[in-house]
Amino acid sequence: MTTEASSIPSVADSRQPTADSQFGRFFLPGPTEVRPEILAAQTRPMIGHRGTAMVELMADLQPGLQRLFRTQRPVYLAASSATGFMEAAIRNCAMERVLALVNGAFSDRFRKIAESNGLAVDALEVPWGEIHDPGMVADKLRTADYDAVTVVHSETSTGALNPIEQLAAVAHDAGDVVLLVDSVTGLAGVPVESDAWSLDFILTGSQKALALPPGLALGVAQPGALERARRKTNRGTYFDFLDFEKNVAKNQTPNTPPLSLLYALQAQLECIDREGVAARWQRHQAMAQRTWQWVDAMNQRGVALEVLAPPGGRSHTVTCIMLPDGIAGPEVTAAMSERGYTIGGGYGRLKERAFRIGHMGDHTLEELESLLGHLEEALLK
Ligand SMILES: *Cc1c(COP(=O)(O)O)cnc(C)c1O
Repeated sequence: MTTEASSIPSVADSRQPTADSQFGRFFLPGPTEVRPEILAAQTRPMIGHRGTAMVELMADLQPGLQRLFRTQRPVYLAASSATGFMEAAIRNCAMERVLALVNGAFSDRFRKIAESNGLAVDALEVPWGEIHDPGMVADKLRTADYDAVTVVHSETSTGALNPIEQLAAVAHDAGDVVLLVDSVTGLAGVPVESDAWSLDFILTGSQKALALPPGLALGVAQPGALERARRKTNRGTYFDFLDFEKNVAKNQTPNTPPLSLLYALQAQLECIDREGVAARWQRHQAMAQRTWQWVDAMNQRGVALEVLAPPGGRSHTVTCIMLPDGIAGPEVTAAMSERGYTIGGGYGRLKERAFRIGHMGDHTLEELESLLGHLEEALLK
């Protein structure tokens, strides 16, 4: 069986990106494939992070980031994986009692982060693959004095997409409750309106729908979230929202930023602006719909595949596909790897019974089509 290690690209590969480089074969639901131009943008020289060049770079990044998050608020940037900003959300915004909405592995991680930070946490769990019903969440919020709700927008382990606009509304109807949103495989792939939907804090990481290398966390705090941070003691140092707020106002970052990643982000934001955020959402929707349609077509050909998430609750960036008895998830990913394609395995407890396609970032319908063609051959063999 092909191992992960055997497919590590050599230094020679990475130094010579060719016009017909292999882009379009790597469909992991994170990290996602990064285009050679974006990788190349990282090779620019370093600048002093307290100098005018840094201020100019940050000033240049902010408008594009605000268009992406659909916000007038500044966008915080940190050298961290996305999990760091999940913890930041808890440390800055959750006071005593948290309601964790759990429907997969990453939402369960959010619950654990709240617990490990000493908060009282109740989980409202629905089966993996399902989404949270705003009415049920509203009922649950009436049962105790919650001050924060955690939710994963696009549950990467299952491909389910939570209705965060409605969930924000029920959280706010319940009183002084903030909604903390992990949109790591949502933002830049599916519609997000940070301001219009009053998402108190929303976070993402660079290596998913943004199609950048890993290592950069991005987030937006609404005034309500900042107000919480002001009231909260023991916010810690590295992820203190008040410190981010003070620095971003001067186009700076609290600590040394990951400059090379910021160069890549600058190049990527230019591309996103050229495509248009709404067009980017549409491209993802088209890729998702094509994937679901392909699953239906495979059923007609006798292979009983099933999209795990229900219609109406499916992410546009990642699809988790359940396999019929007799075909194991690892066999499918291995067969694809022999064909030169990387797809995701089933996550955690779904490892044997499912596989996942990360149709997100800079992939196109054409690339997806050729992936599905190979997958079809592999499954019909
Ligand atoms: C990948 C992912 C994370 C974790 O991101 P890291 O950058 O590895 O910390 C969190 N939530 C979701 C929904 C994800 O897909």
